[in-house]
Amino acid sequence: MADLSNEFSWSRSRDATFQDCRRKYYLHYYGAWGGWAADAAADVRLLYILKQLASRQMWAGRVVHDAIEMALHVYQQGRDVPVEPFVADVIERMRGEWRSSRAGRYRDSPKTLALFEHEYAVDLKPEVWQALSRNVSTCLRNFFRLPLLAEVRKTAPEHWSIEHWSKVFDFEGTPVWSAPDFGFWNDAGRLTLVDWKTGASDADATAFQLGCYALYAREVLGVPAAQVVLLEVNLREPTVTPLAWDDARLEAIREQLRLSIRSMRAYLAEPAANVARREDFERTEELRICRWCNFRRVCRPELV
Ligand code: SF4
Repeated sequence: MADLSNEFSWSRSRDATFQDCRRKYYLHYYGAWGGWAADAAADVRLLYILKQLASRQMWAGRVVHDAIEMALHVYQQGRDVPVEPFVADVIERMRGEWRSSRAGRYRDSPKTLALFEHEYAVDLKPEVWQALSRNVSTCLRNFFRLPLLAEVRKTAPEHWSIEHWSKVFDFEGTPVWSAPDFGFWNDAGRLTLVDWKTGASDADATAFQLGCYALYAREVLGVPAAQVVLLEVNLREPTVTPLAWDDARLEAIREQLRLSIRSMRAYLAEPAANVARREDFERTEELRICRWCNFRRVCRPELV
């Protein structure tokens, strides 16, 4: 494999990590860098393994997103999806992943499922895991029943974006990773960008996320704000919430991105080379954030 270099880029999750805790941000985006290599130093390898940990809610969300992507591919090929066998298959695969995580396979194969709850031996009753798989089933069944899905299926599948036109775009010299979960052109000729949600949502975070999609539409596809429809689809409820959008809001998103990028770069020892020093990134004083932090084991071992 060609040598990879750690280039600075921006994503919403990177911004969220930076806001949470500067040290966590450093460990995730710099400290763990290179830990995928078989000959990586043991401390780097450990950070890389910890970096992959997902909470059970994140995992459930990913399972639903992947399953929907798969179903949309089937629809795109003009075939139907048998809902109950499909859901049963997803849950069966979840069981396999869960067992793999519990057995700690991820320590040798960090790309396999690594649950935070297993790494940190969080004591959870079986009912909690059962509720999680029930939530995944509910979200998927709701997806198949959505009037929005019927509307999507009436449009030309060659114009759907399932794996996205592109996932990264240039924003004033910084690569930005942001792509909607799904996009299609509706009957009225407007680009509809969708965000699937599987749990409770935070209004500000959702507005920022959807705003980034609108920016994506503008920068990658050249589609103006007035021609974009942004939808938050909460699959648990299920509800479809449109977000009002215009040029002024798009400019506010640009400003938010500029500020975020500037703040992250200001922490770098050498911004041009994207070089960071651990000691420049302070640890948060909010221990409630540490409780659920992937890096607790190395950063605040006294809390483990
Ligand atoms: S354990 Fe706490 S201080 Fe350390 S990286 Fe995580 S959130 Fe930051």
